[in-house]
Amino acid sequence: MTDSPTYSHLLSPLKIGNVTVRNRLMQTAHAKGFHAGNGLTNDRDIYYQAERAKGGIGLIVTGARHTHPHSTGPGRTLARGNREEIIERDREMCRAVQAHGGRIVAQLIHFGPQGRSGALDDYRVLWAPSTMKSPAYNEWAKEMTKAEMDEVSEHFSLTARYSKEAGFDGVELHYSHGYLHQQFLSFVYNKRTDEYGGSLENIVRFPIETLQRVRDEVGPDFMVGIRVSMDECTVDGMHADQAIEMTRLMVRTGLVDYVSATAGTYAAHADQIPPGDYPENWLVKDGARMRQAIREEADIPMFIVGHIVDPKEADDLVAHGAADMVAMTRTQIADPEFANKLRDGREDEINHCIRCNQACIARLMVGNAISCVVNPAAGRERRFGAHTLTPAASPAHWLVIGGGPAGMKAALVLRQRGHRVTLVEAGERLGGQLNLAARLPRREKFGFLPRDLERQLRKAGVDIQLNTRLDADQVAAFGADGVIVATGSRPLKTGFTSTRPAVDRVPGMDQDNVLSVVEVLENPDAVGRRVVLFDEDGGRYALGTAEFLLDRGHQVHLVSRFNALSPNLALTLDLPVNYRHVFEKGLEYTINSWVRSVDGQRAQLFNLFTDRDSQTLEADHFVIAAGHAAENTLYQSLQGRVSTLHCIGDALLPRPLQDVIYEGMLAGREMLDDPDRFIEQGELESFDHDWRETLGTQAQ
Ligand code: SF4
Repeated sequence: MTDSPTYSHLLSPLKIGNVTVRNRLMQTAHAKGFHAGNGLTNDRDIYYQAERAKGGIGLIVTGARHTHPHSTGPGRTLARGNREEIIERDREMCRAVQAHGGRIVAQLIHFGPQGRSGALDDYRVLWAPSTMKSPAYNEWAKEMTKAEMDEVSEHFSLTARYSKEAGFDGVELHYSHGYLHQQFLSFVYNKRTDEYGGSLENIVRFPIETLQRVRDEVGPDFMVGIRVSMDECTVDGMHADQAIEMTRLMVRTGLVDYVSATAGTYAAHADQIPPGDYPENWLVKDGARMRQAIREEADIPMFIVGHIVDPKEADDLVAHGAADMVAMTRTQIADPEFANKLRDGREDEINHCIRCNQACIARLMVGNAISCVVNPAAGRERRFGAHTLTPAASPAHWLVIGGGPAGMKAALVLRQRGHRVTLVEAGERLGGQLNLAARLPRREKFGFLPRDLERQLRKAGVDIQLNTRLDADQVAAFGADGVIVATGSRPLKTGFTSTRPAVDRVPGMDQDNVLSVVEVLENPDAVGRRVVLFDEDGGRYALGTAEFLLDRGHQVHLVSRFNALSPNLALTLDLPVNYRHVFEKGLEYTINSWVRSVDGQRAQLFNLFTDRDSQTLEADHFVIAAGHAAENTLYQSLQGRVSTLHCIGDALLPRPLQDVIYEGMLAGREMLDDPDRFIEQGELESFDHDWRETLGTQAQ
């Protein structure tokens, strides 16, 4: 007998139009950066989607697909659903998902003003309901003519036809997040004085015309849904009351099979993909109101999103009728088997999303394909998906030294492949720097990762030895067949900045009142009231520590060598929420500057562009956020003393979390010495039907 929850509501089937979905768990459309310039579906897409269908998800919505030549994205990596050549490839993707019991819907979009005129090899004019400037890319978009609107609706219907021919279970019209149709639905951006602007009835006219054209094309039996923003999340923007009334009007047409509710526009980008700083279930209250309004208009389901991470709460939402399906997208990027693990009572095996936005969003923002910090196979399923984990050819005894994320991941994968594994950690707990990261404000979900890995390590039978520091003689005497050193790193306190590479050490950095961020987080009581924090990191490491100290009543002045405060947060979408917190809490800061010297309680700053001395700041303690140096002494002293020896993670070179966990996975797969370990450009984006064999399915 098990007393774990059964999730009977979340895991119950749902009928949408003529389609029955096996459960109420869905993956919303999300850009993945998988399309290699030609806009056509490829194996990378197919493996990604099939992995999640195999893992038990009910409904998958593809990433947004362009429907019209004037629709451009920020880059060249989105699908172009209006290209007829995509049908053959989409057919393979639909089969791959449906063969595993999942359902898949194609999301159709016109990016409107949120595209980039130069994203493709020619230049395309951006279209909008009224002439406006995009908050995303600072480009102007022109007011559309009626003929152009008709053309867009026609292309939506053409793309819907291609989608139906390819075998999708339905299409979803993207009417949210600031794209073309949502801008028509916004009184902030739609300033038209014709029959498409000025009143609720008018602003829904174009979206309804597009819906009608699509419905006319696909017929009454093909699923057609809409995705709507419940809130623009901007000052004086559209809020839930208005969104509910607009949605009522669209649902009342009888053309819609489901409504997928979300929030945000490009002026509030983070609200579309909230980082862990947001409260959980933040859209649920308005969503329940929208659910009720829809129920009053038609008997169709509504889906909800919004930082929903707890399956029990998701189950309750369905049970109480607040939503009919729950989107947990990043949850399933992090763990494609999430649904099956809930179904099978294997919750202790779930790899939780830590809401970092580091590998899924930030990679996309710089033009790379998405992956996941906790799941390095994400986006690389063809190479590293579940079907690729093979038992060890010769089971052996491995010693892994260091229980940080890289060491834990290596130990787990080695064990999963049948090796005997001993993991030793010098400290009293596993997790390494993750335990410190989880102490930063609103970063507690970072604690999921060491907890998940430790639970799985123990369940898998890895011998974990805490408070154990081995020297080279002890390692050699241990007699393991293979040794992996993952001893991490130590914080740099030299004051080095890459903007002054000739200065290895800033005078005064050896004073007792100069601390690293690590020392502050480990022993905050030792920090004086006045703090000056030097940021050579540009990310959450520095700004989060500043807020941590502000919360404890310190007076904090952050000196940044960057030309904006913590610029890296723009990529992980946690910049607005963190700016709001630190500004409200009184952070002082100086940008474009660095420290010339520290003398007692005084730091002399200088401007990085003029090289002239600027302010002098006084503080009780100076704190450095300037990265780490590899802690590899043990590795060096083991050279030639053990037959198989690897150094991984920060001990090799301090790097972002996703890099070291990926490396831990490679170590666990014994691929570090494999000449084929590198994924060559374009390798994952081929299109060759391989999935049929490797995923254990037959084309129908
Ligand atoms: Fe979640 Fe981070 Fe993975 Fe994105 S990269 S899915 S936020 S754990």
